[in-house]
Amino acid sequence: MDAHDHIRPHFNFDNSFARSLEGFFISCQAEPASAPKLLQFNHALAKELGLDPVALDSKAGLEIFSGNVTPEGSEPLAQGYAGHQFGGFAPQLGDGRALLLGEVIDNLKQRRDIQLKGSGRTPFSRGGDGKAALGPVLREYLIGESMHALGVPTTRALAAVTTGDDVYREIPLPGAILTRVAASHIRIGTFEFGAARGDVDKVRKLADYSIARHYPETANSENQYLAFFEAVSDAQAALVARWMNIGFIHGVMNTDNMTISGETIDYGPCAFMDTYAPSTVFSSIDAQGRYAYANQPVILSWNLTRLAETLIRFINTDKDRAIELLTDKIKAIQPLYETYWLAGMRSKIGLSEKDPDDLELINDLLLVMEGGHADFTLVFRRLAQALRGHSDEIRQLFDEPDAFDVWARRWRKRLKKDGVAVETVAQAMDLVNPIYIPRNHKVEEALTAAVDQEDMTPFAKLLTVLSHPFDEVVGNEAYAAPAPNSSIPYRTFCGT
Ligand code: AMP
Ligand code: MG
Repeated sequence: MDAHDHIRPHFNFDNSFARSLEGFFISCQAEPASAPKLLQFNHALAKELGLDPVALDSKAGLEIFSGNVTPEGSEPLAQGYAGHQFGGFAPQLGDGRALLLGEVIDNLKQRRDIQLKGSGRTPFSRGGDGKAALGPVLREYLIGESMHALGVPTTRALAAVTTGDDVYREIPLPGAILTRVAASHIRIGTFEFGAARGDVDKVRKLADYSIARHYPETANSENQYLAFFEAVSDAQAALVARWMNIGFIHGVMNTDNMTISGETIDYGPCAFMDTYAPSTVFSSIDAQGRYAYANQPVILSWNLTRLAETLIRFINTDKDRAIELLTDKIKAIQPLYETYWLAGMRSKIGLSEKDPDDLELINDLLLVMEGGHADFTLVFRRLAQALRGHSDEIRQLFDEPDAFDVWARRWRKRLKKDGVAVETVAQAMDLVNPIYIPRNHKVEEALTAAVDQEDMTPFAKLLTVLSHPFDEVVGNEAYAAPAPNSSIPYRTFCGT
């Protein structure tokens, strides 16, 4: 028995989705877990959410995170959504293995969803078992928390539990549940769900709800739905630019995996790129390379166009005019994305002022990296070191260091123009270029130990390292290095 078992964990639930959006969910309960165990609990996040971490890191907390007890004030429900998956429309997906417990207001007065993922079948499960295996749950925990530490908007992980029950994939695997926290779980696919049913009023309600919850400032615009579309585009463009800046490949940018809030969601077949190659694909189910690294900005616009289609009738009573207005906003997405991306890249190479030639300078570095098979993360990190007068490490990253030297001379000349002291520039670069990202082989190592040996030590250590991605620590070299044998292409699988 835990000393805190007598404290009843308290959530201050305020369930606005359940109150406002009938037709977008079905109430249901989690399936019981036979012998749950709390594997990981996020104290810092619990505090941020205004919850009592001590009360939750307990047997009573475990009962909640395993779905065995519905906490007071929770109105569990499965959300409906549709989605374009690899370009094809699926009119009904929905939470087939997730359950929204409810919403809490955090310390910053932001409304946050608390959701169980892997808690059993729901009316949206179709043929699936509604369960999640331990490996993918820990993977989502790790990569999500890493993204957060990297400053990328993302859903978060509050807890990971094993259920004590096996889930059957090709082989029996330990079942697990992730408690996921999100600004909301509304996706482009949620709008498509309403639109596919021809329910105009419901889609309008969803838009009004999304405006109030995520973009209240747009409510005062002359055309609030157009302003809403623009705001979602802005958030998602900024997000994808951040992904590109850190070499992140989402893997399944289907419209059901793109949030209206602009948070990264669903860490299934995602991964960080090692060697820079724009055509990199990790997902085993993406044979065509639709969601390859370099294609992510294009897909951003494609997905937002699907959102636009659901909003046409709210933009203008004249359909042609509505389409014209939306098309203008859609055309603005790529330039907007490029502005975010370029700003990010400028700071990665230490530039504080804007120069018309910067784009070419940055693209030329990427070309040299591609030709030299250089590690994406390490090149940017080691640029600051080069600036401090130590070029050996960065030169070693390239097959042909001479090509890098030529580029570096141009770069130093460009930096002089800004006129900022070298050490100041180097320090600023270290704050934006991570040294620790979730390297695929390190993630696999941690998950294998957890799943096969029930040893959470490598996971805990990796999570600690990834929580401070910009602070280089002596002794942690193995966490910064690319896989020893990275000639075998890495493959990820959907986290089912
Ligand atoms: P995801 O790959 O997690 O984005 O999921 C795509 C769709 O498949 C969503 O509607 C999920 O709810 C559903 N799904 C994935 N895995 C399962 C499962 N094990 N049982 C039921 N539904 C699932
Ligand atoms: Mg999904």
